[in-house]
Amino acid sequence: LNRQIAALPTTIFTVMSELARAHDAINLGQGFPDTEGPHDMVQAAADALLDGRNQYAPLTGLPELRRAVADSNARFQGLEIDAESEVVVTSGATEALAASLMALIEPGDEVVLIEPLYDTYLPMVRQLGGVPKLVRLEEPGWTLPREALAAAFSARTKAILLNTPMNPTGKVFTTEELDFIAGLLIQHDAYAVCDEVYEHLTFGTPHVSLMSRPAMRERCLRIGSAGKSFSLTGWKVGYVTAPAPLAAVVAKAHQNLVFATAPNLQRAVAFGLNKDEQYFRDLAGDMARKRDILSAGLRGVGLDVLPCDGSYFVMADITPLANGLDDVAFARMLTEEAGVTTIPASAFYDSSNGTPPKHLVRFAFCKQESVLQEAVARIERWA
Ligand code: PMP
Ligand code: GLN
Repeated sequence: LNRQIAALPTTIFTVMSELARAHDAINLGQGFPDTEGPHDMVQAAADALLDGRNQYAPLTGLPELRRAVADSNARFQGLEIDAESEVVVTSGATEALAASLMALIEPGDEVVLIEPLYDTYLPMVRQLGGVPKLVRLEEPGWTLPREALAAAFSARTKAILLNTPMNPTGKVFTTEELDFIAGLLIQHDAYAVCDEVYEHLTFGTPHVSLMSRPAMRERCLRIGSAGKSFSLTGWKVGYVTAPAPLAAVVAKAHQNLVFATAPNLQRAVAFGLNKDEQYFRDLAGDMARKRDILSAGLRGVGLDVLPCDGSYFVMADITPLANGLDDVAFARMLTEEAGVTTIPASAFYDSSNGTPPKHLVRFAFCKQESVLQEAVARIERWA
């Protein structure tokens, strides 16, 4: 057995979703919408199945989807991308992350990561023999500590893994922050793996890709996910955009992980990416309303809600209601007694970088408004 893999805990999302099911709780833990994505995309996928799109797709993706990814890079980030050589379609952003990290990391390479972080990052980096260098954002505003970030870089730094808009904080990195990071990448001749799965889910501050900043075009691998951009998380279609020499290595990693992604879904995602501006505006507007409803409701029951400018998630300080319990015990109690499931935020921290905060939980607001209202009502009755 591989001891490192065998010792991993089951992901917190599965643990909390199972607990939610066992207690018939409203699941504001795992981040998935409770409505279907666009019907015309589902129809396009079904049509493609009946149209004989059922054998292996090309290794790097259907030409029509690579074209759509390149066009979307131009439309939303002003990036000129060659669809032939600079896009690799993957089975979800999860595979895109794995393939990108495999393409970059050799044992002993250092990778800078920002806490709180998405739960797959650390195990992936460690499995490749990479050495994580963690930098913790500061509450309550999720400020980037620039000195600590600069100190995390060294001659051994291979890459930073940057997630903006960010899960679980809802932070959207500013252009100034991105340019500070860009300066460090140039100084240390390093790359950036840019997890931008929430690129279309910002609520005011626009999303800027690090790849679009000066001198960053050649240093970034930019990752998107149809799951998040089209509320179709079960489809697991992702894409990496990277300069041709890097994309070629990502494709080599992809060929041994998955080889090719379901062709009917690829065709439907190409159709989706070509949707007009109104679709993407409505997606973000709808999600902003949900954030507002949940945040106001949680404040109403006495929780301290932290700022959130993007993603599916908002963090809340549980101190006023927790009676001294830590986040894990509180999240369990809230599921069992109130019937509302959240994610204890300590799951997004690593104890190698100091004691994780124990006073925060993450709420997902990518749910129907009536469901969010019912969740708040349940907490109110319980509190
Ligand atoms: N990165 C982040 C920050 C995520 O939140 C998620 C999951 N929602 C992923 C990557 C994985 O995306 P996918 O489901 O496309 O694999
Ligand atoms: N990204 C989702 C979240 O943060 C979960 C994805 C998963 O369960 N792997 O909740």
